[in-house]
Amino acid sequence: MRLSWRRCSRAEDRFEAWIAQQHQRRVLAGETTPSGPCPDEAFLRALAWSSNSIDLLDPRVDHAATCPNCMNRLLALRREHQAQKRKLTWAVAGAACIILVAGLFGWSRYESRQQMLAQAPPIPELVDLWNAATYRGQQPRQLQSGLLPAARIHLTIILPRFSQAGQYLVAVTRDQNGNGVVAEGAAATTASGTQERVIVDLDLRGARAGAYFLSTTHEQDKAAYYYPLQIK
Ligand SMILES: [Zn+2]
Repeated sequence: MRLSWRRCSRAEDRFEAWIAQQHQRRVLAGETTPSGPCPDEAFLRALAWSSNSIDLLDPRVDHAATCPNCMNRLLALRREHQAQKRKLTWAVAGAACIILVAGLFGWSRYESRQQMLAQAPPIPELVDLWNAATYRGQQPRQLQSGLLPAARIHLTIILPRFSQAGQYLVAVTRDQNGNGVVAEGAAATTASGTQERVIVDLDLRGARAGAYFLSTTHEQDKAAYYYPLQIK
């Protein structure tokens, strides 16, 4: 039902187009008699662009529809308008493509940068606590602070003089009570001369710049030692 109505409508459209063509041919051939003077360019332009401001009862519409000069101008203006519309469509499509390509490019660069960061080897860092030991009978002194980047690090800690060998838990915490653990790792000591070292990988990427503590806990001793630390 709907299909036949559509077909009918298309046939009507074709018929109307044919009548318009016949009329156009007659006007251009000078077979019609226009009444009144030719309207100005602005009016013809508005008429060619099917502007809503045009009142079809306006006598200038009647004139333009029967004057070969005005008809020629109308056809030219209409072609111009359609070309402009096409150009605009292409410009919009082009701009959309550029935005899409730029977005994809930016995203792929971001992705590859993230991948590079994820695959990049950890930064080697050293914290030397050799002289950070406290001696019997002395007041514990303020221990020197280390400075570490907010990145994945391969940290070598030179433990304080007289530290026990063995397995250590190393952590970066917010306070001296072990709260707010930012990163931790465990490793056995390695001896280097008279020094004991612990080497652990820590991921400090989630840490904001500021004051933290580096703690070392011997697996048997269980006492944690805290050293002030700055993350930059
Ligand atoms: Zn005219």
